[in-house]
Amino acid sequence: MNIGFIGLGIMGKPMAKNLIKAGHKLTVFDIVQENVDALKAEGAAAAASPKEVAEQNNLIITMLPNSPHVKAVILGENGVIEGAAKGATIIDMSSIAPLASQEIAKACAKKGVKMLDAPVSGGEPKAIDGTLSIMVGGDEENFNEVKGVLAAMGASVVLCGAIGAGNTTKLANQVIVALNIAAVSEAFMLSTRAGVDPIKVFHAIKGGLAGSTVMNAKIPLIIEGNFKPGFKVDLHMKDLANALETGHEVGAPLPLTAQAMEMLQYLHSHGAGQDDHCAIAKYYEALAGREIRSI
Ligand code: NAD
Repeated sequence: MNIGFIGLGIMGKPMAKNLIKAGHKLTVFDIVQENVDALKAEGAAAAASPKEVAEQNNLIITMLPNSPHVKAVILGENGVIEGAAKGATIIDMSSIAPLASQEIAKACAKKGVKMLDAPVSGGEPKAIDGTLSIMVGGDEENFNEVKGVLAAMGASVVLCGAIGAGNTTKLANQVIVALNIAAVSEAFMLSTRAGVDPIKVFHAIKGGLAGSTVMNAKIPLIIEGNFKPGFKVDLHMKDLANALETGHEVGAPLPLTAQAMEMLQYLHSHGAGQDDHCAIAKYYEALAGREIRSI
């Protein structure tokens, strides 16, 4: 199938590569030439604008940082909507505010262009392996038409509901991940301060009820003091800001999310915005005046 792909960063680049591997013909666009060149080297064609991508393809995928970028690329000057034919489909795989997905889809529908929101979880390693978890919002018939394309990038592809439901699901995911990192940081600071080796605590409790995918992935890094991203503090702040905004709009109080947001804000203000989100542990280290390390 001919597919347009816009946004070739940490996630978009390997996802686009997996579509080429699956036999699709790609036309790509990014504002960073180096990212475009990486895809050209894999056999993709380059377009000069999102409009040109849409003129050449009936299926256009976007993988951009946040709502304003997606709005600009789809609805802005030289945007996808200016080039898209009636009946074309846009799949936005960025993690953005669900209400923004709904607004963009509404504007697209006026021109007969269909849209799905399909954010992902799993990070760069799973984007490379093609084993992302993909959570989709939109029309079921439209979903069934493109499910095969999404399956080339993910191990699980689930339709969660109408447009915006994919991003609502992703926000729930991001709330759980942030609060889990904060919970394990708090608990492991307790054991460290009390003089019990955090690595022993980890091995003792990881198989019980307190065990989690987040703890398995992040505690070994925290104990090493390895905060190389991964998923950056600044991107997680963006997700929690979207979660809080959405919570306010729909009437869901998010007291713990608000606290986690302030922890991330502290890290951002202290120059750790580009660290991995497990740097939430650094916030606890600053409070307690010592690091979480093996004793
Ligand atoms: P990134 O910053 O690495 O990539 C974004 C890309 O979009 C860049 O290549 C940038 O040049 C491009 N871009 C920005 N504005 C553009 C424009 N106007 N036109 C064309 N290209 C433009 O970000 P990423 O880590 O790939 O994340 C993308 C999305 O996926 C985000 O919403 C993020 O929250 C989400 N996500 C990221 C991860 C992760 O681990 N990195 C995991 C799951 C979901």
